[in-house]
Amino acid sequence: MNIFGRGRRKGNGSNGNGAVIWMKDIRKVYGAGKVHVEALRGIDLAIAKGEFVAIVGPSGSGKSTLMNLIGCLDTPSGGEYELAGQPVEGLDPNALADIRNRRVGFVFQSFNLLPAITAFENVEMPLLLGGVPKRQRRRRGTELLERVDLADRSHHKPAELSGGQLQRVAIARAMAMDPDILLADEPTGNLDTSSGGDIMSLFSALHETGRTILVVTHDKALSRRASRVVEIRDGLIESDQKSATDSSPPA
Ligand code: ADP
Ligand code: MG
Repeated sequence: MNIFGRGRRKGNGSNGNGAVIWMKDIRKVYGAGKVHVEALRGIDLAIAKGEFVAIVGPSGSGKSTLMNLIGCLDTPSGGEYELAGQPVEGLDPNALADIRNRRVGFVFQSFNLLPAITAFENVEMPLLLGGVPKRQRRRRGTELLERVDLADRSHHKPAELSGGQLQRVAIARAMAMDPDILLADEPTGNLDTSSGGDIMSLFSALHETGRTILVVTHDKALSRRASRVVEIRDGLIESDQKSATDSSPPA
C-alpha cells in the first residue's frame, strides 16, 4: 500500500555521511542560574533517509526537547546540528520557517489542531502558508483527507471529531507540504488501542513511501514497527539499536 505515494525527491546537501538528521554533542539548557535544567547533555545522532526510528525513555528524559530541536521549533544551547546536510545554526529565520513548513511535518500528542476551523481548513493551513494556489489547495486537501479515511468529515470542526479522527487530521496536515521527515511526539498517547492502531498503520504506510519517520512513544506496538529504537535517559542516549526483525507491517 502506498497511500501517500509520490515522486522521489532529488538528493539534498550532504554532511559527508548521507544522514538526513545529524547531531554532534547537542545540548539544551532551559533557564539559567540555580533553576536551570540540563534537558539534553550531549546527544550524538545520525539518522539516514528512510529510517523509521522510535524514541523511547522515561518521562522528563528529554525526548520532546530532542524532537523540538530536530524540527527546528527550538535551538540548542550547544553542539552541531545538520538537517538534510545543512548546518541549522547558520540559517536565517526565513530559512528556518521554510524548513518547518516544507521539510518537516509534526504530529503531537494533543493534536494541536485549530479549533475554530474545519478539518479541511486545518489540513489546508500549511498549503496557505506555503503559497499554494487555491485550486491546488482544494485538490491536495481533499486527497489528504481521503488518504486518512476522513473525506466524510472534512467540514467538521475538531470538537465534532474523535481522538483518532483528530490525529488522522493532524497527520494529513503534517503531510500537506509533502515533507521528507515526519516527527511525532507520543502520537497515540491520548488514543484508545484501536485508534492508535490506525495511526500506526498510517506511519508504516508513510515509511513505505520513503519518508524518514521519528516517533516518540511509550507504545510497544508502535516501537516494534520501527527499524531502530533510540532510548533516551537523563538527556543522553542510553541505547541505540537497529531492530532485529523486519519493520514492515504483518501481511
Ligand atoms: P520528555 O519529553 O522525555 O518527557 P522533556 O524534553 O519534555 O522530556 O523535558 C526534559 C527536561 O526538561 C525535564 O526535566 C523538563 O522538566 C525540562 N523542560 C522541558 N521543557 C522545559 C521548558 N520549556 N522550561 C524549563 N524546563 C523544561
Ligand atoms: Mg515529552
